[in-house]
Amino acid sequence: MEKTVEQLKQLQPIVMQQLQRIVRKNRIGQAYIFEGSNKAAVEDVALFFVKVALCENPINEEPCNECRNCHRIDSGNHINLHHVHPEGQFIKVAAIEQLLDEMVKKGMESGRKIYIIHEAERMNPKSANKILKFLEEPEGSVTAILITNNSNAILPTIRSRCQHVAFQPIPRHLLLAQLKETGINSSMAATVSAITTDFEKAIALSEADEFAHARKTVLKLVEAILSKNIHEALLIVHDEWLPSFKEKDQMELALDLLLFALRDIVAVKANPQATCTYPDMIPFFTSIGLRLTYGRLSNMLQHVLHARKVLYSNMNRTLLMEQLMLNLQEGKSFV
Ligand SMILES: [Zn+2]
Repeated sequence: MEKTVEQLKQLQPIVMQQLQRIVRKNRIGQAYIFEGSNKAAVEDVALFFVKVALCENPINEEPCNECRNCHRIDSGNHINLHHVHPEGQFIKVAAIEQLLDEMVKKGMESGRKIYIIHEAERMNPKSANKILKFLEEPEGSVTAILITNNSNAILPTIRSRCQHVAFQPIPRHLLLAQLKETGINSSMAATVSAITTDFEKAIALSEADEFAHARKTVLKLVEAILSKNIHEALLIVHDEWLPSFKEKDQMELALDLLLFALRDIVAVKANPQATCTYPDMIPFFTSIGLRLTYGRLSNMLQHVLHARKVLYSNMNRTLLMEQLMLNLQEGKSFV
């Protein structure tokens, strides 16, 4: 997804300023780590940086989009730009060797050479050591960009040779707009954007049947709880919740989804225009909000948070859910 410079500035204002300052001072370094959870955004910014670094006539730290170099990058065949991707689980040493051969080759093209290592945290030890050696003994005008979602998984000796560029999580309203552009309905987009700020992860979640089922199950339970139907709630817990969320991480996600529902009620009670995780539930949540006090809602939130905590102390999950249902009934206090 190609973005304009204006869109990139809107998405990543701090990073874009940092990079444009580097270009302005003509201090393009030898190695960078670009770290962010939104892979597509990081890749777009990396490509912007490469383009402005190689452009023949940059204007105000922006690529001209007219010169030979800009055109070549746009068409994906600039001889001085190389990409390395993982094959399977790892970035294999053969891929790094091939890359380094290209970097030291005296090409017909003069000027800076740039390589981008995608998912750099997936370099195996051999690959990482090859790169490290290259960073220690640079040849010519070469710039490395290591893209990662977790710089801690990169060798500290590599990290210390790189300038760190930390991407901000994408603001929720922009993620929502992006998700809607891809055709995801607004209710689902709102829910997945509460779970993750990673665009690709959000897409995957919204397309997963399992997630749609989890969302439905949680909302069904929420309706039973808030309609003060304890028997119905317990029935849903036994027949649907427990069989659907057998694993600890599934249960954790489900409790989060439950928490978001209660948070929505607080939000619409305070502001009817609030951004919600479940926009499709707003009419119901609004009527519930009229009935429950903030104190009562806060109490309910605490019960869910407590359940989420004891989930990890290996408490029996059936018991945990039964207790939670009882605790969420009106009038009960936090124990
Ligand atoms: Zn240009």
